[in-house]
Order: sequence, then structure tokens, then C-alpha cells
Amino acid sequence: MSRRPAIRGERLLGHLDRFAAIGATAKGGVNRQALTQGDREARALLADLAGARGFAVRQDEAANLFLRREGTDTGLPPLLIGSHLDTQPTGGRFDGALGVLAAFEVLEALEDASFRSPRAAEVAVWTNEEGSRFAPGAMGSQAFAARLLPAEWRDARAPDGARLGDELAATIASLPAPFAPLGFPIAAYLELHIEQGPVLEREDTPIGAVTGIQGTLWLEVELTGQAAHAGTTPLDFRRDPMRAAVAVLDEFYRTVMPSDPDARFTVGRIEAQPGSVNAVPERVRFTIDLRHPDATVLAHLAGRIRDVCEQACAQAGCAFSIHRLVDMPPTAFPEEMVERVEASARRAGLASRRIVSGAFHDALYLARCAPAAMIFCPCRDGISHNEAEHVEPRFVLAGASVLLETALSMIDTVEPMFDGPTRVTV
Ligand SMILES: [Zn+2]
Repeated sequence: MSRRPAIRGERLLGHLDRFAAIGATAKGGVNRQALTQGDREARALLADLAGARGFAVRQDEAANLFLRREGTDTGLPPLLIGSHLDTQPTGGRFDGALGVLAAFEVLEALEDASFRSPRAAEVAVWTNEEGSRFAPGAMGSQAFAARLLPAEWRDARAPDGARLGDELAATIASLPAPFAPLGFPIAAYLELHIEQGPVLEREDTPIGAVTGIQGTLWLEVELTGQAAHAGTTPLDFRRDPMRAAVAVLDEFYRTVMPSDPDARFTVGRIEAQPGSVNAVPERVRFTIDLRHPDATVLAHLAGRIRDVCEQACAQAGCAFSIHRLVDMPPTAFPEEMVERVEASARRAGLASRRIVSGAFHDALYLARCAPAAMIFCPCRDGISHNEAEHVEPRFVLAGASVLLETALSMIDTVEPMFDGPTRVTV
């Protein structure tokens, strides 16, 4: 007779401590970048823990790692639950690791209770989510969803000179585990992650039911005028791209975010050429990072940038060009999946609220090949990608409990999760 599975908080917190020690920094953070020795050590530890519980360990050609607890009907595609173990160079203990270790705790809870379900539950550890050592980020989940590891990615170089293809091969070779096919069929995907923002903590809401991931547009704007002497050139004779750039940026700083709480507008890089104190610049180049959950609004804002550049350049006698560096449409998770997370939170006796993810996640790519859902839990001061990243133990337990509840609702059935394509891209 099986018992109802339950999260064992001390075990999960203990695992979080144990993994945080791999690549630990002096300031209490973690430096465990993708495909480094530390990353391999963390994978090996997880594979050992899985082996000890009798879970099957596999990896694919993108070095994604899988730990599977079999269901009674071995023909059914598994429920995949995952996140990543790699970190930023000055990363924290929870970004990624929480999702992986809570997923592993779900498997252990099922095993503790001798819970028999038709469908297998399988933990996924996605390779190189952070993208800080090799571009692009979310490499493993992208390759899984597309069932393809693009050949050119293998030639990507880390700042330390290492080639991705070599590091992948060495990482795979370091773990004696059989191969899984890249992009094997799955029933659905779940991911628990820290919010990386302040909303849940501010409201003391333990669970965020993530409705989707906002769209991102990265633009590089180049304004061209004419270099001239700073002391001798009167206003009428200037074709000053800095004046145009300031007008464009002023317009957007004043209007975009103040009038729309869902919009994000950031200028993180600006340069003037030739960059001389006493010369009107010939060229000003700046980047714009624009994000919004609504594709229509995003497209409208992009159009406005063009209009405002046109106006400002006409006034300043300059020309302009705009290049799209990244154009990632918003992704909405299926409503059924969001409701499933909300219902699981209710069953666990925990308050939840709907929330849009401001950051990329592996779930963004998994949503392209299966019904996907994300659960957020609060992190202190909304801080992440930082050694000070912290999650209160009660929120760790809340997140893991809702992950378990949601997983239970999905493995204890032989029904397909949903029919047809599940990707909803607005
Ligand atoms: Zn992450």
C-alpha cells in the first residue's frame, strides 16, 4: 500500500547546501559555469544520488542529463521536470539549482512513498542555460526542443579559449551514462525557478503561477552626422548625432515605462565616435533592450523607435539605421497548465498569483515541443545573478510542494496532457 508522497524539507535544503559547495565563492555565492570542472562535479553528484535511489541516468548529445523514475506503463512518454545547474560567474545558490534539486526531491518523495503511477517522472538538467561562458544561453533546452544541436555552436569559444564541442565531449565522457535520443518524446514539462524579481516577496505570496515569458527585442541604433570642431562650429552648422540620440532616449525614458507597468526599456550601452572631448561626434551608437508580454505592444514600440529616430535625425541633420540583434516573441504557457499549477497550490494550502516571467528560461524552449508550466517562488529583494541571492526555506518548501502536487496530477494518468500542438505564441 503506498502512502501519499511528501516533500522532506531537510533533505532538500541539505542538497541545496551540498550543491552550493561545488564552485562556492568567498562571498557565499556560486561560480559553476557551464561545462567546467565544477559543472561536471555537480552532475556526477546528482547522478550518484540518482543511482542510489535506483533512478535511471541518461544523457544526450547536448550533455543534457536525465534521471528517470519509471512508471508502470513504460510506453507512455514521461513528465519532464527540470532546470539547470550552471551559474553565472558570480551567481547564487538557487538560480537553476533550486529547480533541479526540487525536481529530484519530487522523485525521492515518490520513491519514499512507493508511489506507483502509470507515467514516468524524469528530471532534466539542461546544459548551459546561463550562456555566460558559451553563447547562446539555454543551449541544452533549445537543442532538445529542436532535436538538433547546430554544428556552428560546437565552434563557440569561451573567454578562456575553450571550444564548446571539446567541453561537451569531455563533460559527456566524464559521466558513465547511456545516451538518450536528443528531443525524446515527453508528455509535458514543469520547472520551478526563483522569480528573479520583487513581486512575490513584496506581497508575501509563496507561489507564482507563470502565465508566460515576455517578448524581448534587442536593437542597435546608429545615428550618423558629421564630425566637427567643438569650439568653432555654430549650431546651424552642426549635424550632431548626440543631440539626436539624446532626443530619442529622452522621449522613450519619459513615455515607455512610466505609462505601461508591463513594459521594460533599457539602454545598457552607448558609444560616440571618434570619442573626443573637443569634437562633435560623427557617429553615436546605442543599444535598446525592449520587453513586453504583448507582441502587439512590442511591435508598436519598435515602430515608434523608428518614427522618433526619423524625427530627431531630421532636426539634427543626421541619418540613422536600426539593427535587430534579438527578436524573441512572447511565449504564453497553455491556460490548462497555469490552472493546474494554481489548483496544486490550493491543494497544498498555499496562496498563489499569476505572474509573467521577465527573464528567459529553459521552459521557454520546452513550450515549443510540449505543454509547459513554470512555478516561481520569491527570492530576497528580487536579487539574482548575484552571490547574495537568497530564498527563505519556507519558500523553498512551498515551491517544491506545489511542484510535487502538479507532478502528481500529471503522472497518475494515462491520458495525453493535451491534444495537438501546444505552443501558444502571440
Ligand atoms: Zn535560471
